[in-house]
Amino acid sequence: MSKSKWTKIEEILDGKKTGKTIHIHGWIYRTRSSGNIVFAVIRDVTGILQVTIKKGNLSDKKFDDAKNTLVESSVEVVGIVKEDKRAPGGYELQVTDYNAINFAEPFPIVKDQSPEFLLDKRHLWIRSQKLTSILKIRSTVVGAIHKFFRTNGYYEFDAPVLQPNQCEGGSTLFEVKYYDNKTYLSQTWQLYAEAAIFSLEKIYNMGPTFRAEKSKTSRHLSEFWMAEMEAAWMDLYDVIEVAKDEVKYILKEVITHNKQELNILNKNINKLKKILESDFPTITYTEALEILKEKENMDVKWGKDLRTIEENKLMDHFEIPVVVTHYPIEIMAFYKPRDPDDSKTALCFDMLAPEDYGEIVGGSQRSLDLEDMKKRLKESGENIENYDWYFDLRRYGSVPHAGYGLGVERLVAWICGTDNIKDAIPFPRTILRYKP
Ligand code: ATP
Ligand code: MG
Repeated sequence: MSKSKWTKIEEILDGKKTGKTIHIHGWIYRTRSSGNIVFAVIRDVTGILQVTIKKGNLSDKKFDDAKNTLVESSVEVVGIVKEDKRAPGGYELQVTDYNAINFAEPFPIVKDQSPEFLLDKRHLWIRSQKLTSILKIRSTVVGAIHKFFRTNGYYEFDAPVLQPNQCEGGSTLFEVKYYDNKTYLSQTWQLYAEAAIFSLEKIYNMGPTFRAEKSKTSRHLSEFWMAEMEAAWMDLYDVIEVAKDEVKYILKEVITHNKQELNILNKNINKLKKILESDFPTITYTEALEILKEKENMDVKWGKDLRTIEENKLMDHFEIPVVVTHYPIEIMAFYKPRDPDDSKTALCFDMLAPEDYGEIVGGSQRSLDLEDMKKRLKESGENIENYDWYFDLRRYGSVPHAGYGLGVERLVAWICGTDNIKDAIPFPRTILRYKP
């Protein structure tokens, strides 16, 4: 294989190319000129590098090109690497040849623009240092999820995206015309996963998930990626441990592979390392209400779901993720079973992240009680005939099983410290936005 003549910027910043003539290609990140000299900063996927172009070191035509390549122009540059303490990263390139590949028009994104404007220009804004760093971390997170499950004996299993049933509540369904019928975009992989555990036993998946979230929040997308697992022969307490291990595994991969990106995002790596070394506490919903009462003087009526404000207040008392179990059965989906020792509560859990990032994982043991599930579906106005295929799973060799879903963007938002979940996905979809 022929060795590429192109050098990546990170190799220059390593210091190993000092004094050498090298070729780089990339985009103009910043540029300014005065008289016979142009100072530009060029970026590639690995970093940014200062380049200095002096009239006389290359043809006049090329010097003029260097003056005329505005921000985001694409260029090829040849030069000699010099150490320079004043340059970002401590090195600069003294240019001997310069080829403009594309002279960019004036770039529409300048400093201090509104979040809405940046979302309109998302196709350009994803080049920013901030979004590039987040997208690199997201790539690590996604890779880590596959690695975690595959090294622990799980099969990847795919469910249909077009589904005839709802699973998480009719109000958030996206309806899709399906020839002469209608289907819905997947709200979860779970019901199909429950069919597959009878042969594959331990399975996982990561895929796009759709929920028509009607309220504007900084935690909800209409299209998001959920990483789910389901396993035969596991109970609530088993899957809680898997979820804790998974989150720690992902954090460890990010700390190992994304130091540069975490620094760009001003994240405290030592704080993340401390989280990795901590035991995540498990408390019950009832204990969570007690903490809210004692420490925050907040009265939450037993039976009410924890809203964002209550989750945030609770998490003010923790610096690490917390698992909350045993929510009231009344507010839980039909497939979450009653706890036989406390029939007012369900064998379910949420994992909440600190710093107001909210629920990052939600899961449960699965009900094996056909009649109870039918009753609860009917009460919520569902046509139970649509679920007959699902009920078959309780008729032929039913086994204890459990599973959960982890919100990829919620986790990325928390790790990266973004203000809004929208920055944890390249092209966010929300109630107010489906473009570009
Ligand atoms: P919430 O109460 O925050 O709406 P949920 O209980 O509806 O969450 P689950 O059905 O348990 O969530 O889904 C599993 C995980 O998927 C959640 O823990 C969360 O991380 C993520 N998630 C759920 N809804 C969304 C959404 N609209 N946008 C982004 N992530 C989501
Ligand atoms: Mg929800």
